Amino acid sequence: MPPAYDLHAHSLHSDGTLTPTELVTRAHANGVTTLALTDHDVTDGLAEAQVAGEKLGLRLLPGVEISVTWERETLHIVGLAIDPANAALQQGLAGIREQRNWRAQEIDRRLRKKNIEGAYDYVRQLARGAILSRTHFAQFLVTHGFVRDSKQAFKQYLGQGRPAHVSGQWARLDEAVGWICGAGGIAVLAHPARYRVSSGKLKKLLREFIDCGGRAIEVISGSHGPADTERFAQIACEYGLLGSVGSDYHGPEKSWADLGRLAMLPAAVTPVWSAFEGTVNA
Ligand code: AMP
Ligand code: MN
Ligand code: MN
Ligand code: MN
Repeated sequence: MPPAYDLHAHSLHSDGTLTPTELVTRAHANGVTTLALTDHDVTDGLAEAQVAGEKLGLRLLPGVEISVTWERETLHIVGLAIDPANAALQQGLAGIREQRNWRAQEIDRRLRKKNIEGAYDYVRQLARGAILSRTHFAQFLVTHGFVRDSKQAFKQYLGQGRPAHVSGQWARLDEAVGWICGAGGIAVLAHPARYRVSSGKLKKLLREFIDCGGRAIEVISGSHGPADTERFAQIACEYGLLGSVGSDYHGPEKSWADLGRLAMLPAAVTPVWSAFEGTVNA
């Protein structure tokens, strides 16, 4: 069996629903041989995931997914093969988590204006990790019957332009990439098809990303269709970016790609793992 990579996944330390051990066990059962745990703005799950990986003979890559504000857009930058003990990285992530706390209270305030009470307290109980996410608010809205599913919660309340949407001020692009590089990692532009930017703006983003040290882009993602894959494979080649592969798995109840159940990286793209095979952190 060839090595199988899944380099983007979440545990309950951010907005996923599985423990790191459950996540690693499921990845292994699905044939994944190298998994990156990339929780949003927190690395608390990595130690447990590492132990679970060692027991099963699965290689666990330490990762993180950093929230970034770039030209008023929210972007996600994945860091792979990071050293989670790096102080500058941890300080940066702690700042984002503070923003998340502020934003959660602000979302609560806006929901109250719509006569929806108790969201903040519920979300504080629900979140088992160190971050509060819109995913948790979506679950509150579903559980309390305000919407039928999570997708609807974003469409009606939490998404951009909706009444409970609050744009957080996340890290700057150069800061996030700098923290990742400073921690010995590789910075990856996550799920590029999800950003609502023109092709001109995407070019600007890619140039800035590369200028500040970004090295890879997700070509295969749970949120990409075949046309997205083809488009971003071409872009990876054109810009000299390495190609990454990740499901963005959040848990069995989410209708997202399952761990390791991903398309092949097109042969023309240099895989991101060519950069970390044999390194210390990997
Ligand atoms: P946050 O980082 O707190 O702003 O929350 C963003 C997270 O919400 C993403 O990482 C996804 O897990 C989830 N999400 C974003 N858009 C949607 C959507 N339309 N439906 C369901 N989940 C979503
Ligand atoms: Mn998420
Ligand atoms: Mn993301
Ligand atoms: Mn993600």
